[in-house]
Amino acid sequence: MDMMLIDLRSDTVTKPTPEMLGTMMKANVGDDVFREDATVNELEFRVAQLFGKEEALFFPSGTMANQTALKLHTNPGDQVICDKYAHIYNYESGGASFNSGVSCNLIDGKRGMFTAKQVEQAINPNAYYYSKTSLVEVENTTNKGGGACWDFNEILKIRKVCEENNLGFHLDGARLWNALVAKNETAKKYGDVFDTISVCFSKGLGCPVGSILVGNHKIMQEAIRIRKIFGGNMRQVGYLAAAALYALDNNINRLDEDHKKAKEIGRELSKLSFVKQIEPIETNIVIFELNPDVDETQFVQKLKDNNILIISMGSGKLRMVTHLDYTNNMHEVLLNTIKKIKL
Ligand SMILES: *Cc1c(COP(=O)(O)O)cnc(C)c1O
Repeated sequence: MDMMLIDLRSDTVTKPTPEMLGTMMKANVGDDVFREDATVNELEFRVAQLFGKEEALFFPSGTMANQTALKLHTNPGDQVICDKYAHIYNYESGGASFNSGVSCNLIDGKRGMFTAKQVEQAINPNAYYYSKTSLVEVENTTNKGGGACWDFNEILKIRKVCEENNLGFHLDGARLWNALVAKNETAKKYGDVFDTISVCFSKGLGCPVGSILVGNHKIMQEAIRIRKIFGGNMRQVGYLAAAALYALDNNINRLDEDHKKAKEIGRELSKLSFVKQIEPIETNIVIFELNPDVDETQFVQKLKDNNILIISMGSGKLRMVTHLDYTNNMHEVLLNTIKKIKL
């Protein structure tokens, strides 16, 4: 029998179930470059509707969806306002400068979130020797911020600042599904305030790949051109869109369970004498720090010896992420292992 591996490194490790694979195999497909893939068209239509936007476009990755959004809202030399923790700044291989020739004005926020006032202060004055501020980017939930959810009222205030200063407003919603479930919010609410939104299907939902960018007709007409420039045009990709449709129907409401498990992990960690700090747990991400006198690599190794994988985020921070493939049985084993661990 296979040893049970408990993989909490990321929610990207989920695999399609036989049911999901079944619907993928049966997908009605066509050449999506001709816009003739019925399943892609259905997915894009459904997600656009969900957000109350005119159009949606399927992407092979969240990175490409975000990079496309950056390009749509900026010209080379412009500046993007985002948090210092932002995925677009930290984990997209410098794509903002490579693809769009823009710099980022990083806000020193809290857990990846900032205020409208901080945005106002980060906007460059309108003088030719400054780079032109053209976009504000928000991430919900925040990845490096430990799955934190934004206060929607602050988002509304930032929207107002964007309007007053003629700035685009993009949401990196790779894990927006988690925020919607955790805070009982609707996608439409977000569609109403952001110009563009990217969402992932490959995080905790079981899909092998796939992200979507939504926006209104004019901007999305340009998005399809940028996607092509980035090499993201695909052909009979309905097989993958079918997985996303399956996830929309079956795997979003259950994110609650992942959130509950993450909180239970946090509770167990908080009882350990060598755990210094745990970030507040709102969704499926647990970020914690050990006391400076204990060896963090030893802790990670001890878990590994018990077939439990977690990840180090650097600067002494460790991360566990719950997801669809982290079962109740694994959860029980994990809690018991944590309880007994000695350093
Ligand atoms: C994972 C992630 C993305 C996109 O990642 P891909 O691996 O390219 O799909 C974007 N933003 C955030 C916050 C993420 O966590």
